[in-house]
Amino acid sequence: MLDRLGSGLKDALKKLAGKTVIDKAAVEELVKDLQRVLLQADVNVKLVMNLSKAIKQRSLEEEPPKGMSVREHVLRIVYQELVNLMGEEIEVTLGPQTILMAGLQGSGKTTTTGKLSRYFQKKGLRVGVICADVFRPGAYDQLKTLCDKVNVPCYGEPGEINAVKIVENGMKQLKNAEVLIIDTQGRHALEDELIDEIIKINDLSKASHRWLVLDAALGQQAREQAARFHDAINIDGVIITKMDGTAKGGGALSAVAETGSGIVFVGSGETIDDLERFDPDSFISRLLGMGDLKSLIERAEEAINAEEVDVNAMMKGKFTLRDMYKQLESLKKMGPLKQVMSMLPLGNIEIPEDAFDTTGKKMEAYKVIMDSMTNEELDDPSVIHASRIQRIATGAGVSQEEVRELLKYHKTMQRTLKGFKGMGGGKFNMQRMMKKFGG
Ligand code: GDP
Repeated sequence: MLDRLGSGLKDALKKLAGKTVIDKAAVEELVKDLQRVLLQADVNVKLVMNLSKAIKQRSLEEEPPKGMSVREHVLRIVYQELVNLMGEEIEVTLGPQTILMAGLQGSGKTTTTGKLSRYFQKKGLRVGVICADVFRPGAYDQLKTLCDKVNVPCYGEPGEINAVKIVENGMKQLKNAEVLIIDTQGRHALEDELIDEIIKINDLSKASHRWLVLDAALGQQAREQAARFHDAINIDGVIITKMDGTAKGGGALSAVAETGSGIVFVGSGETIDDLERFDPDSFISRLLGMGDLKSLIERAEEAINAEEVDVNAMMKGKFTLRDMYKQLESLKKMGPLKQVMSMLPLGNIEIPEDAFDTTGKKMEAYKVIMDSMTNEELDDPSVIHASRIQRIATGAGVSQEEVRELLKYHKTMQRTLKGFKGMGGGKFNMQRMMKKFGG
């Protein structure tokens, strides 16, 4: 059934092939098929309607970029709007933090707590877990068993009914933990008592994050659960569990919309290693039941001048050191970055004064430093800690301070580019823009 709907979408896309002007009827048909697929995947009706409206409007109003066919243009809009639906991209800090787990019983909260402890442990952090689920008998044993497997200390007081007290004691006991994860009770329904308790635990623990765990199979109730927890403790990330099953997880998107957050992780099985960072592309493929949307987009993008800067990818936070290297290369031909930036419609986004105050010489030095990095480091700068900094500095013949400065510069760029989000996105041809502005 779902496969058929997926191919319905493909058929609709086929109808747009070879067209030179946007065909309103074909767009309508495509949107209708998309609606059917998304509703089938449990995406909330209102979200689907908003998405449809945006796609229709943009497809008919926006000019396809030069070199892009009508079909690719529409496809790209569909993709961008779907990515918007996924919410914010959530960064997972690999440093000291306290994470409070929220969710109803059976959502997979305890299992996910174990998985997270493993995740942070693998990143080289000292992890501690507190079991504050005083409602479900056996909750402590379950969590303890999971934690024992990976040698993570798990604090609990079986028999104690005051969850706040357990957290208080646990925090003392696990004060050496860099990452503290608190599993709370779920019960079956959202009772006031449950909400009161989680508020108290949140206040006491001063949690850095409050993540809501949702079963992928949860449909329309996801919104209500999210609203209730969000009101109480300000949810800042969603984890979708059981994505290894048949459910598409579309219900969780209303939790994302309700909390204004994004999806942090997805659970993909019952073992402690079955946890993955959220990837919007694979989530979208799954929602649509078609796997090649991303590659279609990529092919479309290749059609455009390779010199263009994909601001979209950068806005999603995918701005690695490697991207920065490429940027520095192409910017050399364009002039000072600040000048380029001042031409973008940034609105009231603040750009730190020193962020783009980088002379050509400094950029050259940055490239030399990056030449001393491994592929892994270029793709994921978060792995670069003290000993690596030392190695890179030695390799590049610079001081460690200079390597740190480069990393800081990259962070600032990344943050600033993220600030573009909501500007409408799209592809900016910086060179063309420079010409236009007489640069
Ligand atoms: P809690 O009541 O929210 O703490 O839920 P549990 O962690 O006890 O999980 C409920 C059930 O879901 C257990 O049988 C788990 O093994 C299972 N579970 C949790 N996460 C996943 C997942 O990502 N995939 C699968 N297949 N099962 C999961």
